[in-house]
Amino acid sequence: MKIRKNDTVLVIAGKDKGKKGKVRFAYPEKQQVLVEGVNFVKKHSRARGAVRQAGIIDLEVPLPVSNVMLLCNKCQKPSRVGFEKLEDGRRVRVCRSCHEVID
Ligand SMILES: [Zn+2]
Repeated sequence: MKIRKNDTVLVIAGKDKGKKGKVRFAYPEKQQVLVEGVNFVKKHSRARGAVRQAGIIDLEVPLPVSNVMLLCNKCQKPSRVGFEKLEDGRRVRVCRSCHEVID
């Protein structure tokens, strides 16, 4: 997957369009990412023992990876990600705008 944990991304679609955040978790098998501070849903919860509080809680939920774009920390632009093979055989991600290696 092109987006990985700890990447900074920009939301380009959905209700949180325009927000930026850090990827907290990536779920490659589902093509989803959980982004810090993005895609909150209100969830009603009932008291369950002493740990949980009853009421409405805000919960971050993963969003489709197609709704986010990687923010390149070199050129600061939302970037398309490409892959390149290094001389030592490693496959790295590169920013398509400034051609900087991301990994
Ligand atoms: Zn860049």
